[in-house]
Parts: sequence; structure tokens; C-alpha cells
Amino acid sequence: MTLAFDEPRIQEVVGSLSRKMLINGEWVDSASGRTFDTVNPATEDVLASVAHGEAADVDAAVRAARAAFEDGSPWRKMPHGQRGKIIHKLGDLILEHLDDFALLESLDNGKPYSVAKAADVPLAADLFHYMSGWATKIEGNTVPVSAWDPDQYLAFTLREPVGVCAQIIPWNFPLLMAAWKIGPVLAAGCTTILKPAEQTPLSALLLGELAMQAGLPPGVLNIVTGFGEAGAALAAHRDVDKVAFTGSTEVGREIVKAAAGNLKKVTLELGGKSPNVVYADADIDKAIAGSAHAIFFNQGECCVAGSRLYVEESVYDQVVEGVAEQASQIKVGNGLDPDTNMGPLVSAEQFERVTGYINSGRDEGANIIGGDRVGDRGYFVAPTVLTGTREDMKAVREEIFGPVVAAAPFNAERDILPTANNSNFGLGAGVFTRDVSKAYRTARRLRAGTVWVNTWNVFDASLPFGGYKESGWGREMGHAVFTNYLETKTVITDLS
Ligand code: NAP
Ligand code: MG
Repeated sequence: MTLAFDEPRIQEVVGSLSRKMLINGEWVDSASGRTFDTVNPATEDVLASVAHGEAADVDAAVRAARAAFEDGSPWRKMPHGQRGKIIHKLGDLILEHLDDFALLESLDNGKPYSVAKAADVPLAADLFHYMSGWATKIEGNTVPVSAWDPDQYLAFTLREPVGVCAQIIPWNFPLLMAAWKIGPVLAAGCTTILKPAEQTPLSALLLGELAMQAGLPPGVLNIVTGFGEAGAALAAHRDVDKVAFTGSTEVGREIVKAAAGNLKKVTLELGGKSPNVVYADADIDKAIAGSAHAIFFNQGECCVAGSRLYVEESVYDQVVEGVAEQASQIKVGNGLDPDTNMGPLVSAEQFERVTGYINSGRDEGANIIGGDRVGDRGYFVAPTVLTGTREDMKAVREEIFGPVVAAAPFNAERDILPTANNSNFGLGAGVFTRDVSKAYRTARRLRAGTVWVNTWNVFDASLPFGGYKESGWGREMGHAVFTNYLETKTVITDLS
């Protein structure tokens, strides 16, 4: 195996990063002086030791973000066009560092370098470019009053930044999740404290460096690296106005409870168990490729992974055999190997969780295609198809967050919709058919925040993304995201 990068190049990129936290525009150690290791999941080797942020560091970061948000601060006084230019510049700097970011994502998360380079990094840059335009387009309305003399009262609304935000992100798309969070915060004129996942802190450190280069005033973006306890301190902090979280439904519930103290605003992007409905009239080759991509992309570590595959009976065998065949051709390996299609799972913990679900499927009577550990070092697991599944199986009900799809046949359109919607989650869904009427009917009835028709995993900075049911609160991206980061103020003047 020849890797795309040699050790000196890896050392150059990882070694040039700050291992400290970004607070008030300075790189600082944790108050305790403690650090923690981040590990390469392909080799189990330690990549770097970074600052271990805890409650005291969260306090300092919140103070910095509050000061940066105060009336008259450089950030609050900055013309909106200038704010937009800084956000745009950050997008440009990300593209200038495309290779370094892709390398860091591959090392820290495990994903193939080629995927990070083609998807994570350019989409992060695009997010900032898209959001930069919004900085100058946040407007209120002039509102005609309803019950009063319209000549007497002039009423209008102002949209104002919600304030100091805490943003807690997971490890599956480290840079992209940071971008989804930070881009709209900056466009709205808020300030923020970002907490990357403990498994994948590195790309956020480079992002912080570039944000300073782009001209962001100190304290606008603070980065606290650490564990769940740092996230908990942020969610509970009384001087944080809003918390945005992406991660597990379980921690999402904790965030809601922690936020209750000062009733801070909360948005949540949580898990999923997304149904993928393949009708017999679909373009079968496209449906097979799309269904495989739906579940196996990014090692299946996608909140929208198409993890429940429902196929109309007459084509069930053909589609499931096709998906299993594609699974068998996926080359699992080190993300820096140019031949690799699928990297390792992010951590030993995630490896245990995913293989635990595969075993539970086996114990509950499913047939397992794939499912084996690959190699004896690193957290690699083979792409897996479960057949002979029932709706009550743990592996069919719960989010696995790995490359494991549960397949089942269905008879007719009217039968599949209740089954597809039979989940506490409602994040993503998909339908494959050539019949546009059926596609539209099905898309309308699927209870999910995003429905893909004849495709999967198409994301765009302009498209709102988020969940129904226990998959979350609120939407990210598009102009819908600004509901999260703006207050509406009504101003009424008596002109008489
Ligand atoms: P997680 O615990 O929900 O982690 C997400 C983020 O929340 C991380 O930054 C984490 O910090 C932080 N966190 C943990 N406990 C917290 C608390 N009490 N208060 C505030 N923040 C807290 O997710 P995970 O343990 O990494 O993964 C577990 C499962 O979550 C996965 O198997 C998958 O099912 C699901 N998941 C979903 C998504 C998604 O996009 N919807 C993403 C990742 C994982 P640390 O990482 O530093 O502990
Ligand atoms: Mg965790």
C-alpha cells in the first residue's frame, strides 16, 4: 500500500497546527494545563495532543464572546458589507488550504482523503461563500397596523443577532459541521464558542487560524477543544443566548435540559434512521448505485444514512443482490491510500457500537452479508447488508451510524408509507421511481426534513436541512437558518 502522503508531509501539516484553544483571538492552553490525544483511526497512533478545555475555559471563552458582542465592539460596529467580505475571505482561505484540510480530515476522522477533498472541504468553502452574501441581506419589514389609524402609527421590524452562541459539533464531517454552524452565526452578526468533537479537533484549529487571517475581530469565534463536559458547560452557561447542537439524540435531550436554566434558544440536528423506498418501476441500476451510496458514503457515519432499504417485492432480490455486490467491491482501507473507497470508523467506541448492532441483528435472526472486521489494526468494518429483517429488530429501529443497511421487501405503495414513517426519527428519506406522480406523492407523505428522489446525499448551502420528530429542532443552511440566529424586534412610533 502506497499512501498519497509521506510521513514528513503529514508531520508538516499536523505539526504546524496550534494545539491550543482559540479564546479572544489568542491561542491559549487550558486553565488546568491538561491535554488529550487525538488518534488516527486507521492506525490507532496518536496524531496530536490538544488542549483539554473544561468549565473554566468555557467561562473564559464565553466572556470573550460576550465582550465581542457588546454594543460598540469592532464586530458590532463593522459595516455589514465588511462582515460579508471577511466571511467570503474565509471561504477563499479554505480553498487555498484544500489539501491540508483534506489531509487533516482523513487523518483525524479516517475518511478517504479523496472524499474530503471532493466533498467536505469544497462544501465548507461554498457554505462560507453562500453565507457571506446574507450579511448584507438581513432585513426587517415595514408593517401596516391592523386595529389602529394607519396615519398615526409607523411600525417596522428589525432583525437583530441573537447574541452569544454555543455550537457543539460531532466528528463525522468535522470541518463541514463547523462551517454549517459558524457561517450563519457570522452572517447574522452573532459571536460564538465552537466545541469540536473530542475525536476530531484538528481541522477546527486550522479553521480558527484562517478565521483570524481573514480579519475576524478577537472573541467573535472562540474554539474550545474538549470532551462532553465542555459541551455540557456551554449548554448550561447562563451568559450564552443560544446553543446549536449536532450529535446524538441522547445528548440532544441533555442539551435541552441544560439550556432550561436561562431558557437559551436551542436548535438540534440529531440522529436518523432514514428510509429508502425503491419501487419496481425505478431505473434499477440507478437505484442500486444510489442505495449503496445512501448507506456506505462516509463509512455510513452520516446522520442521513439510508439505513432502512425497502424494495418492492418483484425487484427485491435484484436490488439487494446489487447493493451487496457493490458493498463487496468497496475497498476498505487507510484513507490516505488512493485506492480506498471507505475508511475506518472514527474510534474504538464507534467500532464496538457498530459491530454490536451487527451482532444484535444476527442474534435476532437477520442474515448478515459482510459485517466482518477488516485487518487487525484500525477500526475497519466491512460494508454490511442485513436481510430477513423485521421492524422490531434493534438494528432496524435504532441508529447504527455505520455502514450497515437493513433491507426488507414491500408489496404496494399504500403499505410502504406507514412502514417507512414507523420511526421516532425523521431526518432524511429517499424514493427511487421513474413515475413522477408516485415520486411526488411519496415525497409528500414521508415524514422527513429532506427527501431525495432518484439520488441521495445531495446537500447545498442554499437548501434547508434538519429533522422532523426526534431528529431535531430547526433548520441549518439556506435562509431558513437565520430563524435560529436572529431576533425580531418590533418598533412602533406614534406620529401624531
Ligand atoms: P455525541 O456524544 O452526541 O457527541 C456530539 C457532540 O456533543 C460532541 O462534541 C460531544 O463531545 C458533545 N457532547 C457529549 N456529551 C455532551 C453533553 N452532555 N452536553 C453537551 N455536549 C456533549 O455523539 P457521539 O458519542 O460522538 O456519537 C454517538 C452516536 O451519536 C453515534 O453513534 C451516532 O448514532 C450519533 N451521532 C449523530 C450525529 C449526527 O450528525 N446526527 C453525529 C455524530 C454522532 P465529545 O465528542 O467531546 O464527547
Ligand atoms: Mg461522545
